[in-house]
Amino acid sequence: LEAAVRQADRLATLGTLAAGLAHEVKNPLGGIKGAAQLLERELDDDSDLLEYPRVMIKEAERIDKIIRQLLELASPRGPRYTPVNLHMVLGDIILLQREAAGSRDVSISTGFDPSIPPIMADEAQLTQVFLNLIRNAIEAMPEGGRLSVTSRVLAEYHLARNENRSRMVAVEVADTGPGISEENLAKVGTPFFTTKDNGTGLGLAICQKIVGEHRGMLKIDSKPGQGTKISVLLPLIQSPVKG
Ligand code: ADP
Ligand code: MG
Repeated sequence: LEAAVRQADRLATLGTLAAGLAHEVKNPLGGIKGAAQLLERELDDDSDLLEYPRVMIKEAERIDKIIRQLLELASPRGPRYTPVNLHMVLGDIILLQREAAGSRDVSISTGFDPSIPPIMADEAQLTQVFLNLIRNAIEAMPEGGRLSVTSRVLAEYHLARNENRSRMVAVEVADTGPGISEENLAKVGTPFFTTKDNGTGLGLAICQKIVGEHRGMLKIDSKPGQGTKISVLLPLIQSPVKG
């Protein structure tokens, strides 16, 4: 128990620090970006110097993204539960990602179990989880491929942590990308681990945090050359959660 309290304390301190940092950095960062935008507008369209303010704007946006994600990761606030229709959430995300997918020759297919009822969850947080996973899948297939998003009920599946042994819903995001090496598989989800030039390495860590707080589980199945399947397991709870 003492260790759990210490861990909770540490996370709370981290959350306070991250929130403070985000707040302190916001204004100077906005200043840099604004000044760079002014410079970009002042320069002639064919100026050799245009590249510099553009890099500054891009990098300022990148810092902003890292800070927003870090804030999310360190945020001590747990899920705010309301009934969530998973298929509507997934449908909306897929609609918005169609363009990014289409421009890379990625086809998207869905297979939803229509018997799955709305579950108690934090809709905004689950949207982030599925968006991160779907984006990762699309980013993993720059030369095209297939993305599939499916849902199903796992019969009497229960976790050690899940004392009430509620049934679980699985949402699976599978791609035909290059897969993940065994070495990298051990590292994904560790904050800041990324293999991308412009990645933050915070996406999967955020997914794990949110799914864990929902008393669920994130499962990663991936082998080099065989694509990647990430399953989000969530308790199929239909009435308000206490505590
Ligand atoms: P980011 O996307 O910013 O790199 P993530 O935490 O979302 O950070 O992902 C961490 C790393 O996990 C990625 O850089 C990539 O190496 C690996 N990864 C995640 N999803 C996939 C996927 N669908 N296929 C292959 N590799 C993946
Ligand atoms: Mg990502």
